[in-house]
Amino acid sequence: MALFGTNGVRGIANEYITPELAVNLARCLGTYMGSKGTVAIGCDTRISGQMLKSAAIAGALSTGLSVIDVGIVPTPSILYYVRDFADAGIIVTASHNPRQYNGIKFIAGDGSEFSRDAEKDIEKIYHSGEYSIVSWEKTGSFRIDSGVNEYYIRNIIKSVNAEAIRNCKFKVVADTGCGAGSLTLPFLLRELGCQVLTLEAQLDGTFPWRNPEPLPEALTELTNLVKMTGADLGVAQDGDADRVVFVDENGQFVNDDVLLAMIAKYMVKHEKGPLVTPVSSSQRMVDVAEEEGVELYWTAVGSINVVRKMMEVNAVFGGEGNGGLIFPKHQYCRDGAMGCAKVLEILAGGKKLSDLEKSVPHYFNEKTKVPAKNAHAIMEIVKNEASGLGHKMDTSDGVKIWYKDGWVLMRPSGTEPIFRIFAEAKNQERAEELLQEGLDMIIRAEKSSRLANKLSPS
Ligand code: MG
Repeated sequence: MALFGTNGVRGIANEYITPELAVNLARCLGTYMGSKGTVAIGCDTRISGQMLKSAAIAGALSTGLSVIDVGIVPTPSILYYVRDFADAGIIVTASHNPRQYNGIKFIAGDGSEFSRDAEKDIEKIYHSGEYSIVSWEKTGSFRIDSGVNEYYIRNIIKSVNAEAIRNCKFKVVADTGCGAGSLTLPFLLRELGCQVLTLEAQLDGTFPWRNPEPLPEALTELTNLVKMTGADLGVAQDGDADRVVFVDENGQFVNDDVLLAMIAKYMVKHEKGPLVTPVSSSQRMVDVAEEEGVELYWTAVGSINVVRKMMEVNAVFGGEGNGGLIFPKHQYCRDGAMGCAKVLEILAGGKKLSDLEKSVPHYFNEKTKVPAKNAHAIMEIVKNEASGLGHKMDTSDGVKIWYKDGWVLMRPSGTEPIFRIFAEAKNQERAEELLQEGLDMIIRAEKSSRLANKLSPS
């Protein structure tokens, strides 16, 4: 059975994600590392966080690894720390999932998330149950480092034009959703000379006001407060603060794809170089790349795929249309606080956030899902049909077809027996039409794969 999903090992805390699992996964890491090296271990604000972190610490120590307990930290904060001070890391987090969930994610020594191959190696060790348990006198050393978040904040400040931001004295409402970002974002903003008003900045794993996922409908308090206080912008993060979203000075939620394109444009204007984004991203990224004359690379969905490609092509910027922004000069991972600091740097140029939104081309997006088993067979049929159409196509994750005036993407879900279909066009009618085309293709393919199953001798 596969342990790792798109983002580490996830499930309901104390049901699937138990202390026993945390001990054993940490033992897997120790075994994988040959019982040598230092591992930093931290968690987000979830109620089960301390329990699982303690278990992971015990597991790592039992294999002879030295452990640094970094406490409650955003994912990008521990990634930064591991890159500079440790050989690996473990973060106990379920990111944007609802409160009952938790998860365990491994961090490589270069401060990036574990590659799929490394995860497979861990899985093999886990299923074999053969851990390198050391004798009593070789169990690892342990210490606490409580300066991790401060180190992270200091380095973000070094990565942006802090002086320009400070001169603007921005008024910012920060909704950290009671997650790990509560320990970093408000303080970063203060250091950048902002007048900060916080919302849900108490560490509380019951997440009393909103789910850790910062969807527009969950941010009514934020939008209201931005309007009431006349703030320059509102900012919200997910539970482990690797993603970030914004509300403009009018209290309007900034579309994630618009945000991505807006930052991409700014980044390549200052330094020409490749952009990287998953196939699910908007045509707006194509427009930016064409306008600025830079290369754009598509990857499969999942931030680790984007990061690996960025390393390979030496990209200037990359990210996903869900508030996952990656600034390689700072570090190779999604970083919510860094994204916020960069947006402030852009605003320091003098334009309002709503004006910047308008500078990005307008598109209409539609999405739907359809139940379908046998994803692999269906995908093959769709690929065949699509390649007969003579349009540009990408099959790095599902099937994406580019038409002259829009695109449709059909991809099987990694976790449920469904297909997700996304479409984008210059007008609403065409976006709906393309969505319907994708839907029809999946339904036709599903029917013929069922028929083929019936006809094939069992
Ligand atoms: Mg996250």
